[in-house]
Amino acid sequence: MNSKTIKLYDEKPYETEFEATVLSCTESDRKQGQYRLVLDRTQFFPEEGGQTPDRGYICQEGSSEEISVIDVQIKGDIIYHYIDKPLTEGTTIHGKTDWNHRFSNMQQHTGEHIFSGIVNSKYGYDNVGFHLSDSVVTMDYSGQLSAEELSEIERLVNRAIYENVPVIAEYPSKEELEKIDYRSKKELPGDVRIVTVTGYDVCACCAPHVRNTGEIGILKVITSQNYKGGTRVSILCGFRALDYLAREHELLNNLAQELSTSWENVPGQFRKQQDEISALKRALSEAGEKILDAEISRVPADVNHVCLFADKESDQNVIRKAVNRLVDEREGYCGIFWGDDEGGYRFIIGCGADMNSNDLLTEFKEKFKVRGGGSPAMVQGSMQEVSKDDILNIFRQHNNIDAIGEQ
Ligand SMILES: [Zn+2]
Repeated sequence: MNSKTIKLYDEKPYETEFEATVLSCTESDRKQGQYRLVLDRTQFFPEEGGQTPDRGYICQEGSSEEISVIDVQIKGDIIYHYIDKPLTEGTTIHGKTDWNHRFSNMQQHTGEHIFSGIVNSKYGYDNVGFHLSDSVVTMDYSGQLSAEELSEIERLVNRAIYENVPVIAEYPSKEELEKIDYRSKKELPGDVRIVTVTGYDVCACCAPHVRNTGEIGILKVITSQNYKGGTRVSILCGFRALDYLAREHELLNNLAQELSTSWENVPGQFRKQQDEISALKRALSEAGEKILDAEISRVPADVNHVCLFADKESDQNVIRKAVNRLVDEREGYCGIFWGDDEGGYRFIIGCGADMNSNDLLTEFKEKFKVRGGGSPAMVQGSMQEVSKDDILNIFRQHNNIDAIGEQ
């Protein structure tokens, strides 16, 4: 039987190397060729409380071969290390955890404590969900926090970081625990570990934290959204925050350079360009309307079924207006197509009250790849794998003379 694994990271989260005895090493049922190792003590923090496990490796006594620790899990009081090599029971191993990964998690986690402590004392909301992945930290709060409130909390957390106050982890006695007011006050099995960020937070937690808040460096709120009636907030601390802000800054600088302006002027320059695009679209649409009007006027009076082709980028409202004009002036099917043979055509076809546009649409659907529909007075849609001549031929059959196309 395995007894309780001693959690070395509890007392000494800054140490990375340790010696331990192999209590058992059995084939894992998760994956072939993977083994489940139990040690009498470990520095590897398991996946627990929403936090990813430590990374690192172990070596057998007298060997320099580094065996990677793939995963670390905890069940009850026993910690399981997943490795891809069998080890002999009773032998000694030397373990080493990945310090950068561990320290980053300590920064993120301690930052989260201060953030949640301030949210709790200032607004009374609880942290009801926590996830610390290798890329982002998310917290779910039981109440709604506005952008202004989040920005204020961010400022307060960073002030707590600069104050460099001590972070203390301890196991109080049952009597002492009853007197302490702490977050996450659930019925926890076994001893409760209380983590205190002096002046900011008292919370039950099993993970490693930094010794003083200054080591967090910086906390930045990355995103927030409404979530199940509360707020989901994602944050980053330390180097992860610095890396994120550096990427963001580089992106903004590149954008500013593209726009030949300073980064502060990027939003204004962007809006200006949007306005220019809108104005150009309007002008293009007006020009398209004039061209179509001129073409309609050129169609001989004895042509009843009219087929015209318009520019690929035409505005659908302009096309509809032109089809309406044609329907008023002619007695047959009046269709306008815009696009090209390669990418296909979009179309609007109309006709007078004594005809049905769907009849012509059916003819198209029988011969080509057509999507669309509408009322007897007007149909619209798109067609693929069809040429301008194919379309004109359909109209020619109705007119017995050449339909008029775009020249
Ligand atoms: Zn914690």
